[in-house]
Amino acid sequence: MELPKEYDYNAIEEKWMDTWQDSMYYFDWNSEKPRFIIDTPPPYPTGNFHIGNALNWCYIDFVARYKRMRGYNVMFPEGWDCHGLPTEVKVEEINGITKSQVSREEFRRMCVDLTVKNIERMRKSLRRLGFSIDWSNEYITMEPSYFRKTQVSFVQMYKKGMIYQQNHPVNWCPRCETAIAFAEVEYDARDTLLNYLNFDRLNIATTRPELLAACVAVAVNPDDDRYSKYVNTEVKVPVFGHNVRVIADKSVDPAFGTGVVMICTFGDKQDVRWWVEHNLPLRKAIDKTGKMTDIAGKYAGKSTEECKKAIIEDMKNAGILYKQEKLDQNVGLCWRCKTAIEILSERQWFVKIISEDILNTANEVTWVPDYMKVRLENWTGTMEWDWCISRQRIFATPIPAWYCAECGKTKVAKEEWLPLDPTQKKPPEACECGSTEFRGEEDVLDTWMDSSISALHVSGWLSDHPLLMPAQLRPQGYDIIRTWAFYTILRSKALLDTKPWDTILLNGMVLGEDGHKMSKSRNNFIVPEEVVKKNGADAFRQWAAIGGTTGSDIIFSWKDVVAGSRFLQKLWSIVRFSMPHISDKPAFFTPVDLWLLSKLNRLVKECTEKMDDYQFDETFKAIRGFAWEILADNYIELAKSRLYGDREGKRAAQYTLYVTIDTVSRLLAPFLPYFSEEVYSHLKKESVHQVLWPQVDESLIDANAEATGELIKDITAAIRRYKSEHGMALNSELAGIEIYSSLTDASDIAGAANSEVKLKTGTPDFETVPIALKPNMKVLGKMYRSRAKPIAEALLNADPKLAASGSIELTIDNEKITLDNSSFTVEKERLLKGKAVDVLEVGSAVIVITRK
Ligand SMILES: [Zn+2]
Ligand SMILES: [Zn+2]
Repeated sequence: MELPKEYDYNAIEEKWMDTWQDSMYYFDWNSEKPRFIIDTPPPYPTGNFHIGNALNWCYIDFVARYKRMRGYNVMFPEGWDCHGLPTEVKVEEINGITKSQVSREEFRRMCVDLTVKNIERMRKSLRRLGFSIDWSNEYITMEPSYFRKTQVSFVQMYKKGMIYQQNHPVNWCPRCETAIAFAEVEYDARDTLLNYLNFDRLNIATTRPELLAACVAVAVNPDDDRYSKYVNTEVKVPVFGHNVRVIADKSVDPAFGTGVVMICTFGDKQDVRWWVEHNLPLRKAIDKTGKMTDIAGKYAGKSTEECKKAIIEDMKNAGILYKQEKLDQNVGLCWRCKTAIEILSERQWFVKIISEDILNTANEVTWVPDYMKVRLENWTGTMEWDWCISRQRIFATPIPAWYCAECGKTKVAKEEWLPLDPTQKKPPEACECGSTEFRGEEDVLDTWMDSSISALHVSGWLSDHPLLMPAQLRPQGYDIIRTWAFYTILRSKALLDTKPWDTILLNGMVLGEDGHKMSKSRNNFIVPEEVVKKNGADAFRQWAAIGGTTGSDIIFSWKDVVAGSRFLQKLWSIVRFSMPHISDKPAFFTPVDLWLLSKLNRLVKECTEKMDDYQFDETFKAIRGFAWEILADNYIELAKSRLYGDREGKRAAQYTLYVTIDTVSRLLAPFLPYFSEEVYSHLKKESVHQVLWPQVDESLIDANAEATGELIKDITAAIRRYKSEHGMALNSELAGIEIYSSLTDASDIAGAANSEVKLKTGTPDFETVPIALKPNMKVLGKMYRSRAKPIAEALLNADPKLAASGSIELTIDNEKITLDNSSFTVEKERLLKGKAVDVLEVGSAVIVITRK
C-alpha cells in the first residue's frame, strides 16, 4: 500500500485517539514488574488546560511512556484539585449571588456542578494532546472517596499532636474574609508615608497611624542613650488616651524614623514577634471584613483606608502629626485578589511545622535539576508561625470537628465516622460532659490539605490496594515548591514517616513569544488547543521537548511548532520512500549498512542515558539529527541504487531500513505518540506504545565501520561536487572511477555515482605532463613594462616541455630573453596509463576520474 504524500496530522491523530483503549495505560496493582508511580499535579478545574500545565504534562508523558517501554509498571494518574476560592467566586458571578444568599449545601452543590463541567472539558484537552493517562486512577478531591482521606489525615495528625487549635495571629484577607497561609501571601513594593507623631513625651514614626487604637507598647533600642530613661515608664497614646509601656528591644533600629516605634496588634510580622516575646495585651482594631472595631472610637465602622485618611487629617489639625516622609515598603497581598492582607488574631487550626524533619526528608529526595532544592531550604526557614489550615469558606473539605454546646470542648471525629460534614451531621456519641448538643465546625480546610496527600493517595494509602510508598516521581512547576512540594513532604513525614517520592522533577514557566509572562492583557496568550488545531499535538509536543532544559523557563515559539510540523513531514517522506523497500528478513550487511547500524545503536545508547536523566531536549535533538542528516540525507541516498536495483546487497539495505525505521519509531514514541503509532502500524500489528524501548546492540557499535561509512559518504559527496562543478547532471555516468583506499566494497559509491568504480590499493602511478605555461603578469609587468604583453603571448605559445629545467629561453623581437619560474607557472596534467584524469583526494583516499 502506498502511503499518501502529505502527512495529514489531523486525520491521523484523531484516528488513533479513537482507536487507543484506556486500558493500554492502566497500572497493575499486582504486577511483578518494577513500579513507577508518578505523583502528578492535580490541576485546578478552571475549564481550561493552560499552556504551563500542558508543558508539565508533556514532560510527565515523556517519562511515563519511556518508563513503560523500559518494562516498568507505570501509574500516570489524573487528579483534580477542586476546592477553593476561584470556583466560589465564579459560581457567585455566574449565578449573580453571594454565598450568603443561599444555604451552605446549595452553594456547595453549585460549586460541584461547575467543577464537574469544567473537568469534562479539560479531559478532552488531555486526550487530544495524546497523554497516556491512567484513567482508572483518576481522583477528584471534592468527592467523598478522596476527601475522606483528607479528613482521616487530619484526624491522624490531630491524634499525633501535629494539628492543634489556637488563638494566634494569622494572615488574613479582608476581602476574601478568610485566614490564609504564608505561602498564599505575595509581596509587592508600594510607596507609603512615614508619619511622625508627638507621642506623649516621645516622638514616634509609623506607616500605620490607623492602628493607633491597637497600640499596646512603644519600643526603643536598649543601647539608644536618647531614650533609656523612658524604658519601663508609661506613655499616653494620642487620640485614644490609653497608657502603654515603653519597652527595650534590641531589634528596634535607632536609625529608622525617630528610633521609637509603636507596637500594634498587628501592623506586621515584627509586631507579632514583639507581642509574643514581651507578652503584650491584645487590642483588635480591625475586624474580619477590614473595618475598624469599636475600640477605634469615632473611626469605628470605617475601612482601614478611610480611617487612615481621617486620623491623619485630625492629627495634623491637632498638631500631633508634625512630619511626613516618603517610604518604600513591601506590602503583603492576598495571592488570589491582591488585597493588602492584615494580621488578625483568631482561633484557627494549625499544622506544626518541624523544619528539621522537612529539610532532612527533602535531602532523601533526588532533585532534578538539583539547584532547585535550595528554594525549599530557603522557604523552610522563613515562616514565622505554623501552617494555618483553617479557612472561613464553604467549598472545601470540612474540618471533622464539633464544639460541645454545654462545656465548649472540641470534639474531633473518629476515623471510622468519616467522611462527614459536621455542619450536617452530629457526632454519634456524647461529649465527655454527657451533653449531646454540638455546634459543627464551619471552618473548612486549606485546599493544600487535599493536594498534599496526593502522593499517599496514588500510592494506595487507605485503599484495598497495597501501600506502595514512596512514589517514584513528583513532576511539578518550580513556582509551587514552597506550597505543594513543601506540604507534601511535611504530610508524608507526619503521616507515614517516609519521603513522598524518590525524585522530584521541576519544570519551568512558559513565557509568551515576547519573553514576558503570558497574559491576556499582553496579547501573548496561547492556549494549547489553538496550537493543536493549527499544527497537531505531535508538533506541540516537539516544542515542549526541545523548548529548553527541564527546570528552565521556556518561551512559547510558533517557529518551533512549525519546525515540528516540518520534521514530521520530512520523517513521513522518509517512511513513505522506505515502506515499499523494507523487509524484516536479515541479510549480509554492506559497509554502509554497518555504518548506519553503528550510528543507530549509538543513538539508542545516547537516548537511553539522556531519558534516564530527564534530558528531553537533548534526546529529541539527537533523534532528529539522526533521522534527518544520517538516515535521510546520507544513508537513503547511498543505498537507493541497491534498493531500486536488483543487485547484491538489496536485501541487506531492505533489512537495514526496516530495523532503522522500527527503532526510530520506538525512540520517537514517548515524544510523538500519534506519528510513531502511525508509522509502526505499517511495520507490525501491535501498538508501538505496548512494545519495549530499543535495546543497544553493543556488537554493532564499531568505530571502524563508522570510519568506513564516513569515507564512503565523503567520497560520494566529492564525486557529486565534481559533477556539479563540471556542469554534469548528478545521475550522469562518468567514464571511469578508480578509488585508491582501504575500501573493500564500492557498490554504494558506484550506485550513487551511477558509474563503474574500481577499487585499488596503494597509490596511483601517475604520469605528469606539462600542458601549458601560464604567465605571471605581476612579475612580467614589473620587469618588462611595455614588453610584458608580447612576452606573455610567447609564453602561452611556447612548448611547455622547454620549461622542464625551470627556466625558459624565448626570442622576442630578435632578442633572447631568459625567464625563470617566477615569471610563469607550469600547468600539468596527470595521466594514468596514458589517459588524462582528474584526481580528488578525500582523507587518505585518492579518487581518479577518467575524463570523457
Ligand atoms: Zn483575597
Ligand atoms: Zn461537653
